[in-house]
Parts: sequence; C-alpha cells; structure tokens
Amino acid sequence: MWGILKEVKCRLCEKHYKSKNQTAPDSVESVGHIQCYCPALERPRIAIHHGIWRELMFSIRKSSTELNEKKEPKWCFPSALSPEAHEEWGMTKILEFMGLHEVLPLGQGANREKLKKDVRDYHTAHGIEISESDIHTFLARRPDRLAFDKENKLCVFLEFTRAMDTDEDWAIRKEGEKNGRYGTHLGFFNYLCRREKKGWKVSQTNFTVGVRGSLHTNQFLDRLELLGVKNKNTREVIRKQTVQKTLSMSDMILKFFFAAPGRKNQQPHSL
Ligand SMILES: [Zn+2]
Repeated sequence: MWGILKEVKCRLCEKHYKSKNQTAPDSVESVGHIQCYCPALERPRIAIHHGIWRELMFSIRKSSTELNEKKEPKWCFPSALSPEAHEEWGMTKILEFMGLHEVLPLGQGANREKLKKDVRDYHTAHGIEISESDIHTFLARRPDRLAFDKENKLCVFLEFTRAMDTDEDWAIRKEGEKNGRYGTHLGFFNYLCRREKKGWKVSQTNFTVGVRGSLHTNQFLDRLELLGVKNKNTREVIRKQTVQKTLSMSDMILKFFFAAPGRKNQQPHSL
C-alpha cells in the first residue's frame, strides 16, 4: 500500500497556488508531501489530526484511574471535556488556574498589561526581541490538551503529532520540533511559578504517531502510565487503537488526494 510515488510536481499544489495567483514551489508528489505538507489538503489533514487526538484523549481520560492521597483522581484534563473547553484553555486561563494571573472582567485591562510586560521582560532577559504582535501570538497559543495534577502541582502540555515515518530518526526529530514549539512558554511559566513562589512545575508530553502506523512503543506506553493509566493491558489497547486509527486516517488522506479534481487520470507510479 505504501510505495514511492512518482516524483512529479504536485498537481494539487499547482492548482492551489494558481488560485492565489502564486507560483507553486517544486513540491514533489511523495507520500510525505501528501500526508503532511500539501497545502491543498490542509483541511482534511486538520480534521484527521483532531479525529485521532480526540479518540486518544478520550481513552486517556477514561482510563486514567490513578488516585492521589485524598483518594481522588490524580490527573484532570479540563480542556479535553469539549471543543468549547479546549477553546477556553489558552495561556491566560492556564496561568489563572495556577494562580499566576487574574482574569478581570472586560474593560479592566490593566492585568493584561502586566502580563504582557512579564512576557516582554522574560524575552528581553533571554536576549529575544519581541514585538507587540509577537506577544499577542505568544499568549494566543493553545496546547493540544492539558493535564493537571493539583496535589503535586504539575501542569503538563499535551501535544499530538502525526508525522512522516521515513527514516529511523523521525520520532526523535519530531519530538525536538514539538518541544521547540513550547520551549519558551515552559520557560516563561516556570519562571513565573518560581517568582511568585507558587510551587507549580510545567512540562510537556508528546504523543507522536507515524503516518505508516509506527510509533516509539515504550515511550508511548510510559507516557500513558505517567498520565495515570495504571492498567498495563489498557495501555496496550490504547496503543493499538491509536495505530489503527492513524492507519485508517492516513488511508483516507490518500483517498482525498486521488479523488481531488485536477489530477486527470494520472496514476501513481506505485502505491
Ligand atoms: Zn501538494
């Protein structure tokens, strides 16, 4: 099923850029391009990302049975409850939850100014130039999901990626890219936690699955366990489900590609 496609300029790209009066870059029509990069397939790709992640997150939430000392569930996943909750849990809401920022009613924007100043100062202290719109972008970021352990004051940004599993290093490379995305946020949050003596620790955990269904098995299972999925068999079931779901979703992207107009009757070299 997964062969090498003939290396030609991507027809969907040509059409996509033409409609914007731009020249298409020399994208080749490879599996990686179709699965991960082709701008013409961005919408189905986003839908697929959400589809796999929603199912994985549902399983984690349902199976996270570890209890804390008060015999309550150790982990909570507030932004996983609904699309609305996910919308709501941006950077300011996370800071508010940890007692690092007070969200005031509309019109009383002074605390927002204070937060912006903190963001600016933190970047300046680290030799990073930051404009007003960069600050806005920084605060508008939203992790895929969040996990909190209130007793131990742990906040974990959860990120999910479906990546092209071309070579042996793909998972390590993707891990680096993902961590880079929130590196400054984690630094900033942990700096505020120390400064305000709130005792929270903020970190990031990634779940990465290759489009061909490969994943770093031990790491994947360990991360499920870290989030309170104590039952070994359940972890294994979640892993298998995620791989299956990813494979069927990757297959769906290919179907989108071949069904898209503008491809004439061209057949791939091998598939
Ligand atoms: Zn393309």
